[in-house]
Amino acid sequence: MGKQRESLELDVLFVGAGPACLAGAIHLKRLINKHNESATDRKLEDLTIGIIEKGREVGAHILSGAVMDPRALKELFPDFLKDGAPVEAEVTYDKLLYLTEEAKLVLPFTPPPLVNHGNYVVSLSKMTRWLATKAEELGVDIFPEFPAAEPLYEGNRVVGVRTSDRGIGKDGKPKGNYEPGVDIFAKVTVVGEGCHGSLTKKLRRQLKLDEGRNPQVYAIGVKEIWELPKGRVKPGHVFHTVGYPLDSNTYGGGWIYHMKDDLLDIGLVVGLDYKDPLLDPHHELQRLKLHPYLQELLNGGKLVAYGAKTIPEGGLYSMPKLYADGLLLVGDSAGFLNSMRLKGIHLAMKSGMMAAEAIFQALLDKDYGAAKLKLYDDLFRSSWAYQELYSARNFHQAFHQGMLAAMINAGLQFVTGGKYWGLIERASNGAGHERMQRLVDYYGTRYAVPNRIDFDGKLTFDKLTDVYYSSTNHDEDQPSHLKILEPNICIDRCTKEYGNPCQYFCPAKVYEIQEEHGKPKLHINFSNCVHCKTCDIMDPYQIIEWVTPEGGGGPGYVIM
Ligand code: SF4
Repeated sequence: MGKQRESLELDVLFVGAGPACLAGAIHLKRLINKHNESATDRKLEDLTIGIIEKGREVGAHILSGAVMDPRALKELFPDFLKDGAPVEAEVTYDKLLYLTEEAKLVLPFTPPPLVNHGNYVVSLSKMTRWLATKAEELGVDIFPEFPAAEPLYEGNRVVGVRTSDRGIGKDGKPKGNYEPGVDIFAKVTVVGEGCHGSLTKKLRRQLKLDEGRNPQVYAIGVKEIWELPKGRVKPGHVFHTVGYPLDSNTYGGGWIYHMKDDLLDIGLVVGLDYKDPLLDPHHELQRLKLHPYLQELLNGGKLVAYGAKTIPEGGLYSMPKLYADGLLLVGDSAGFLNSMRLKGIHLAMKSGMMAAEAIFQALLDKDYGAAKLKLYDDLFRSSWAYQELYSARNFHQAFHQGMLAAMINAGLQFVTGGKYWGLIERASNGAGHERMQRLVDYYGTRYAVPNRIDFDGKLTFDKLTDVYYSSTNHDEDQPSHLKILEPNICIDRCTKEYGNPCQYFCPAKVYEIQEEHGKPKLHINFSNCVHCKTCDIMDPYQIIEWVTPEGGGGPGYVIM
């Protein structure tokens, strides 16, 4: 295509400007600076540390609940409030609610993993933007609009990444502004690109990082932020809900977090191991808002932001091997999330900091092989992060038996240090998409698509309206970044067997079955995509592959 591919050499490359990589880069820079102040030999001078980010700016693709445990942030910034960390409010009140369609029951006690005193309601988009300024003050280079498309290898050693090409038209041909992706080489590549990232997927497969692990299982979080009439929002009040709108076979629940500036954060998590092929997480969030308690809370308010993201729920036994030659995995990419506590930001940050300590040693010893980088895994196994994940190691596995069984199991685990049903050290699980049932098995032979809400545009919104509030944008003149590996399956099999569930599980109305020349055809509105990765995870045939679009495309989250 004419133009020469450029390359860039760094010492350490972090992929993804999320909390894991940002904390890692900050910690590494400080370790190097401190060492150089006192070292007489083996000084680590003129090292280049860079972070690439696919969003148009740091925070644009970041979404979390979020109630943050500040433990890791405190290790990095002991005076984080004085240093200006942008928290919404300290949690002062938290309750677990059991919802039926019409009523709400405030549970008289909050299960210990959901007690949030000492934690903070935050916007992770804001928090990562603040961390990015701290990293840049230390001399870390941050490159937005640089999606990592392919790992670069020498043999099985990871030597960096290739970023996506720019300026390819939807016909696959280069346009006038064509620029080939850049090869970024580094001694160590740290991948923290979020949940189910496309680079991580390739690395896990190529380097067999999942051997001996349980398959990762996921959930999707769908979220709206509302601005309410003055005085109604109580910053620091936190509610979690179970029950309505989900049935007892579906893992998940709602959250209602009171932010500052009259903003209310409301969302729903749905396990991506549900059975109903027509389940629609976005629709379930709209139904949640129809509960009388929420109708009253939201009355007179207005929607200000929307987004969705997947979450790695599998826990300790679903985490891949964390290191290989030239490579470390951190944050959601490595499954650092405690689904029992509904928290991952503190674990992600800690993972980045432990990775930084291993890289620092590798830089001193000029050895970037797996045996040296294994220090990261050793540090993890002796850390509070491991202890926390160990105690929740069998939490998600029991949800395959329904919510009630899972709650009992969670209670037993709490008193037996995490044993499955109080007895078994390690429980296994299958992949979540395997649990989805065929239409005939779930609904019987005379099924009809369940009734859906008539969205009123005031309290409930259709997907396209919600996507508008995610500020999602992609250049339409580029190849779709959603690849259907075997297109014939969609109409020839999936329509009859599963009813094309991509139309329902996608929270952004990307997939639609439309008539074309009198025949049904799958239409892909890729420009709506909010990069949640649900389709790559939940498709029952596993034929949807999410690849990186052109840099900068995707949601434009500001307060998510
Ligand atoms: Fe999420 Fe896939 Fe829909 Fe994009 S196309 S919003 S990744 S489900």
